[in-house]
Amino acid sequence: MKPISRSLWPQTAGNYICSSCIRQIRRQHSNYTRPSSTPQIYDIVCVGGGPAGLSLLSALRASPTTAALKIALLDSQSLAPTRSFNLPPTQFSNRCSSLTPSSVRFLVEIGAWKHVDHSRVQAYEEMQVWDGVSGARIEFDWPAEQGEKRTIAYMNENLNLTSALLRRIEELGGVEVLDVQRVESIGLGEESEEVDLRGWPLVRTDKGREIAARLLVGADGQNSPVRDFAGIGSRGWDYDRVGVVATLELEGESWPKTAYQRFLPTGPVALLPLPGKYATLVWSTTPALAARLKGLSAKDFVGMTNSAFRLSTVDLAYLHQMPEGQKEELEWREQHSHFNVDKIPGRIVGVQEGSIASFPLKMRHADTYIGERVALVGDAAHTIHPLAGQGLNQGQGDIESLVKTIKYAVEHGQDIGATMSLEPYNAERYAANNLLLGVVDKLHKLYAVESGPLVGLRSIGLRAVNGLGPLKNFFMEQAAGTATKLL
Ligand SMILES: Cc1cc2nc3c(=O)[nH]c(=O)nc-3n(C[C@H](O)[C@H](O)[C@H](O)COP(=O)(O)OP(=O)(O)OC[C@H]3O[C@@H](n4cnc5c(N)ncnc54)[C@H](O)[C@@H]3O)c2cc1C
Repeated sequence: MKPISRSLWPQTAGNYICSSCIRQIRRQHSNYTRPSSTPQIYDIVCVGGGPAGLSLLSALRASPTTAALKIALLDSQSLAPTRSFNLPPTQFSNRCSSLTPSSVRFLVEIGAWKHVDHSRVQAYEEMQVWDGVSGARIEFDWPAEQGEKRTIAYMNENLNLTSALLRRIEELGGVEVLDVQRVESIGLGEESEEVDLRGWPLVRTDKGREIAARLLVGADGQNSPVRDFAGIGSRGWDYDRVGVVATLELEGESWPKTAYQRFLPTGPVALLPLPGKYATLVWSTTPALAARLKGLSAKDFVGMTNSAFRLSTVDLAYLHQMPEGQKEELEWREQHSHFNVDKIPGRIVGVQEGSIASFPLKMRHADTYIGERVALVGDAAHTIHPLAGQGLNQGQGDIESLVKTIKYAVEHGQDIGATMSLEPYNAERYAANNLLLGVVDKLHKLYAVESGPLVGLRSIGLRAVNGLGPLKNFFMEQAAGTATKLL
């Protein structure tokens, strides 16, 4: 039988504790064994050194109010590849994200943006989005009367961002980095002669470290162990879709820096600009079609990606069934297809070796972002379909809000781990993220319909938005993360 911490006994007026209470406590903490020695104690322990976790630590260290907090970072993976990220200008990582101007403003404020390699970042000012079935189109570009064009988003490799954040953390110092250490279990601390850690999360790693946290932050991605520890449920569904990603090379030295997205019945396919003649592909499709795409030769994979932006959905379905020869088939079919070359991406001529990969797509939302001495941020709190390129940006919004909340607690002498202190963070972020998750989920479902009245209705909607300046501007402000009032 595993020992149960004394501090976990329910507080009773007398000494009697009913046996069902004892069983319940044992069930809840069955993976927890009593610590062998006094744990190390931190104000904040962040589990997860992805974009969300590293942004949190940079922001906390950059602020004079929170710089004195004792902080540790835990990640199961090595941060060495992040630290040494240095690809030649002709090669790009296949994991890229569009950063909104709002996210970039935050990164500038915390001093991390200056460490990003700007020669690897591509801003874009226009988006072309169209319905693959009806051809209805919406063109997002800033109206001439607003003067100079504004950036909608910045395409950037995730590693370019995380390496910059890590450099910023190392520049500021003061964070104990424990990488290559997986969280094995999280239990509750107890009272000893030296210190009373009752109610504090106690993290045990696979390397035998024991760490107590005044506030434990789960920036540990979709399968968050911190969320499990806190007993916070996470609801949603798998889309039965995967996102196929690749780094592509386009014809010519350079091409218009526009983002293109075509909604196909199997899911949207997007081509997003990178510097020079490069672009990144995110093609959401069924696992079966993704497996076929990944099994093609480089030449035919290129043929399929060109087809995805050019051919009818019927032609495309036919090409998907072919074992090989997609490049030649496209060349033949193109002669009989009609498309406006000014509104589709330039011709793709190559795919970077080893860059084709796929990720399962899902929607999840935690029931709450906070618990006693626990806060969730980034994908640990919410996972969104990538069609609007908002997942990482939502995480940046979480971090900005959580750091503001922690600062307020420090300034007012509050306990930073208390649920009461964390409540403003949950209040500010939960509803906003929930709205975006809902809209993106509905968009995915709306465009998965291949025929029937919905196709006509959604095309009317798309054309109407395209024709209504203020409404279109509103959507652009949303996409750029600089939401302003509609009128
Ligand atoms: C195909 C695709 C395209 C996308 N495009 C965009 C886009 O254009 N724009 C955008 O904003 N977002 C985009 N996203 C979403 C974005 O990639 C994620 O939202 C973002 O990477 C999540 O960051 P995070 O730090 O919250 O989590 P993660 O990046 O998942 O980091 C979690 C960290 O926790 C660590 N960890 C996990 N478990 C443990 C454990 N037990 N012990 C210790 N450490 C642990 C992991 O090692 C990892 O480092 C896209 C996603 C996909 C799949």
